[in-house]
Amino acid sequence: MTSNEIRKAFLDYFESKQHHVVPSAPMVIKNDPTLMFTNAGMNQFKDIFLGNKQRPWPRATDSQKCLRVSGKHNDLEEVGHDTYHHTMFEMLGNWSFGDYFKKEAIAYGWEFLTEVMKINKDWLYVTVFGGDEKEGLEMDMEAYNFWKEHISEDRILRGSKKDNFWEMGDQGPCGPCSEIHVDIRPDEEKAKVPGKDLVNKDNPQVIEIWNLVFMQFNRKADGTLEPLKAKHIDTGMGFERLCMVMQGKRSNYDTDVFQPLIQEIAAKCGKKYGENEDADIAMRVCADHLRAVSFSIADGQLPSNVKAGYVIRRILRRAVRYGYTFLGFNEPFINTLVPTLVGQMGHQFPELKKQQELIQRIILEEEQAFLRTLAGGIKRFEDYVAKNAGNKVVDGAFAFELFDTYGFPVDLTQLMASEKGWTVDMEGFAKGLAEQKERSRGAAKVESDDWVELLPGVEEEFVGYDVLEADVRIARYRHVKAKDKEFYQLVFDRTPFYGESGGQAGDTGELRFENGGLRIISTKKENGLIVHIVDTLPENLSATFHAEVDVAKRQATACNHSATHLMHYALRQVLGDHVEQKGSSVDEQRLRFDFSHFAKLSHEEIREVERRVNQMIRQCLPLEEHRAMPIAEAQKLGAMALFGEKYGEFVRVVKYGPSVEFCGGTHVANSGMIGSFRIVGEGAVAAGMRRIEAVTAQAATDYADRQQEQLAALAEVFKGAKDLGAAIAKLQEENAQMKSVVEQMQKAKALDMARNYAGRLAENPVIVEHIDDDVNMLKDALMSLRSENPDMGLVLGSVKDGKPSLLIVLGQNRVDGGMNAGQMVRTLGKEIQGGGGGQPHFATAGGRNADGLDKALALANELIAH
Ligand code: ATP
Ligand code: MG
Repeated sequence: MTSNEIRKAFLDYFESKQHHVVPSAPMVIKNDPTLMFTNAGMNQFKDIFLGNKQRPWPRATDSQKCLRVSGKHNDLEEVGHDTYHHTMFEMLGNWSFGDYFKKEAIAYGWEFLTEVMKINKDWLYVTVFGGDEKEGLEMDMEAYNFWKEHISEDRILRGSKKDNFWEMGDQGPCGPCSEIHVDIRPDEEKAKVPGKDLVNKDNPQVIEIWNLVFMQFNRKADGTLEPLKAKHIDTGMGFERLCMVMQGKRSNYDTDVFQPLIQEIAAKCGKKYGENEDADIAMRVCADHLRAVSFSIADGQLPSNVKAGYVIRRILRRAVRYGYTFLGFNEPFINTLVPTLVGQMGHQFPELKKQQELIQRIILEEEQAFLRTLAGGIKRFEDYVAKNAGNKVVDGAFAFELFDTYGFPVDLTQLMASEKGWTVDMEGFAKGLAEQKERSRGAAKVESDDWVELLPGVEEEFVGYDVLEADVRIARYRHVKAKDKEFYQLVFDRTPFYGESGGQAGDTGELRFENGGLRIISTKKENGLIVHIVDTLPENLSATFHAEVDVAKRQATACNHSATHLMHYALRQVLGDHVEQKGSSVDEQRLRFDFSHFAKLSHEEIREVERRVNQMIRQCLPLEEHRAMPIAEAQKLGAMALFGEKYGEFVRVVKYGPSVEFCGGTHVANSGMIGSFRIVGEGAVAAGMRRIEAVTAQAATDYADRQQEQLAALAEVFKGAKDLGAAIAKLQEENAQMKSVVEQMQKAKALDMARNYAGRLAENPVIVEHIDDDVNMLKDALMSLRSENPDMGLVLGSVKDGKPSLLIVLGQNRVDGGMNAGQMVRTLGKEIQGGGGGQPHFATAGGRNADGLDKALALANELIAH
C-alpha cells in the first residue's frame, strides 16, 4: 500500500465506525498560552476535553500534522540519528468525547491493525498501566481484561507511570494509556531475544506505533486526581511508522513518504544513501527538517528571532549545518527540495502547493543568512583555537556561546575540536545550557490555581457583536501567578467583551456592581474561553454585574479591522490574486497587515490601494454579517479561508460590498464610519512578504494634519516660494556649489601653509605649535613635506568647535631611529581626553578637552627633543 492509501484506509475504517472525519488543524497554535505547536492529535480538541466547549460530534477521526520540537515533547536531537522519530509527522487518531471507552477503543485498534492492515498478530505487543503507589492508583485491570479478549496474555505487558500514564500538562485531564508495539525484526533475531524484552527499550525495530489514552481523571493544581464525569478516548498512531510496517521496511525513511526526498538529496550531493552512517544521518535530517519548516511556513509561522519563529529557525539551521558538514553543501540547497515535497504532499495538503514559491524564497533567504553566520562561527572557533593553543580543551562557556549565538550544535564543535586533537568541556557546556533553560523557565513560569466553578456546565456566550454592555454573572474564576504579577481570570455566563484573537486586540472596560466597580484590564481568548483579567475579586462573587466595554477604544479598533478587510480586497485588485494574508494585527491605534508579494510596492501602487479603500469607505457599504454559515456556502460567497487558521463547519462571514472574509472580529456597521484611511508604512518582513501599516478615522485625520503642518512650516521658511519642491532643490544645488568652492579654497590655503612650513623646516627641523586652522585640513599637504625633510618633527594642535585635534608628521630618519608617531599621539591624546593612532611616520588624535591641548604640545616638545 502507498502511504496515501494507508492514510485513507485509516480514515475510512473509523468513518465506517461512525467517526466524523475532520481536517488536520494547523500545526501552529494560537490562543493557547501553554503550547506553540500542535504536538498531538488531541490538541485541537483540548477545549472539549477541558469542558470549555460542547462536543460537536461524539466521535471523530483525522490525520493531524504534529511538530515535536519544544516543551514536553521534544524529539529534535533524536531526529536523523534514529529511524523513527521525526520533527514533523502525521498522527492518525480516533476520538470519543464521552461516548465509547476502553472496550471499543481496544477492539477498534486491534481490528484495524490485524484485520484491515493485516499485520501479523505475532508481531504485536501491548502495554497497560501497571499502577503507581505514590499516586494511589491500581493497575488498569479494565484495559487488561479487554485486551485479553484479543491477544494472548504473555503479550500484554505492564508499564510504568512514565510510559503508561498520559497527562495533558501539570493540570487537567489525564489517565492511563495502552500502547501497541510492533516487532519488525527478522525471524532469526526474534528467535534469539523475545520481542517483549525489547518493548520500550529504544530498539529501533521494536517500536510503539499507537497509543490509546483513556482520559478518566482531572489533575488539580495541588496535584491530586479527581475522576472525570465524562470519560474520553484519545488515540494517536504514528503515520510514518505504520507506513514502515506496511511497506515491509525497517526505517521510516525507506518508505514512500521520505524516499523521493532522500534520493534527491543523495543525487544533489553525489553520495549514495546507505553507504556512510554520517551522510545517512545528514540526509535524514535534511529530508525531515525540510518538511517541518515548509509546513510551518505554510501555516504562517516564519523563521524569526523569537519564540515559535526561533524554534523554526533552529530546525532549519540544524539541517543546513548537517548538509554543510556531512554532505558538502556550502551553498543553499534545502530550498531546492521544496518542489519535490510539494509534488509528493501538495495534493493532501493544498496549503503547501498554494504557497510553494513563498516557502522556497523564505527558506533560501534563511539558508543564505545562516551560511554566512556559520562561516563567522567557524572563524570564531579557529581564532579561539589559535589564541588558546596548548590548551587542547575548548572551554564549555565558549562551546555554549557558539551554540547559542551561531546555532552550532555542540557535536559540531566537538567534531571541529577533534579534527585538531582537542576536546570540549562538556560539563561546562551542559551547565550553560541548564542555566539558560532555567532562565527561560523562570521567565515563562505561570502558576494557575484550579478554576472555581460558580455556574457549573454553563457555556459562555459572546454577545459583543450586538451590545457593548450587558448584565453578567461569573461562571468560574481562578487566581494566576505569573513572573512579576498576580491577577484573577474571570469567565462570565455571557460577555460583551471581545477576547484578543485573530489579531484583534482584546477589549478593556468596567465591571460594575452595587457601590463600586472593577477595571477589566484585558480580555484574552484561551482554549475556547473568553477570559477577563482583573486585579482583585469583587466581594460578592455570585452577584449580577454590569459589564461595560470601553466604547471609544472598541470603535477605533473596529474601524481598523474593517479597513483591513477593505485593504485586503484592494491589494488583490491592485497587485493580483497571489496576495494572501499572512498576519494581521489591529488595535485602537493602527492596523498592520502582512501579505505575500514579491516586490516593494511602488508609490503609485500605494496611492492606488489608498484611493480604492477610501472609495469603498465613501460608498458607505453596510456590514453584512453571517454568524454561522456552512463553510461551503461561505466559500461560494467568495470568502477565502486563510492558511494556518482553524475553521469549524460553521463560520462567521463578514462582508462589505465585494469584500468577503471569514472573520470572528468586531466591525463597524457601515464602511462609512471608518471615515478615512491612510497607509503610513510599507516594507519587507521576509523574502516574499510585505508589511503595511495604516491608520483610519481620527488617527488618519491626525496623520494628514501633521503632514499639513510640516508643509506649512516649510512654506513659512521658504516664504513666497510658489513651488516648494523646486525651492528646496535650488537650495540644495546652491549648497553643493558652495561646498566645492570652499573645498578648493581650503586646498589652496593648505598648500600655502605647507609652503610656509617648508621654509621654516629648512631652518629648524622641529616645529611644535598651536595653530588657528583645523589641522585635519592639512594632512595631505604636510605629508608631501616628508620627502624633502627626513629629519622633520612636526606636531600641530588646533581646536575646532570646541574639540581639540593633534597631528604628528615624522621624517624618515626619525622613524628609522625608532621614533613612532602612532605611539606618541596616544600618549599626547591622554592630555586632551581623547584617542587616536596612526603609523610610525604619521598620526592624528581627536579629544574632548581643549584645555589640555597646550599641555599636550609641551609634552610633544619633550618627546621630540629626545
Ligand atoms: P516514543 O516513545 O516512540 O517517542 P511517544 O510515547 O512519544 O513515542 P505518543 O506521545 O504516545 O508517543 O504519540 C503517539 C504515537 O505517535 C506514537 O505511538 C508514535 O507512533 C507516534 N510518534 C510519537 N513521536 C513521534 C515522532 N517524533 N515521530 C514520528 N512518530 C511519532
Ligand atoms: Mg516520544
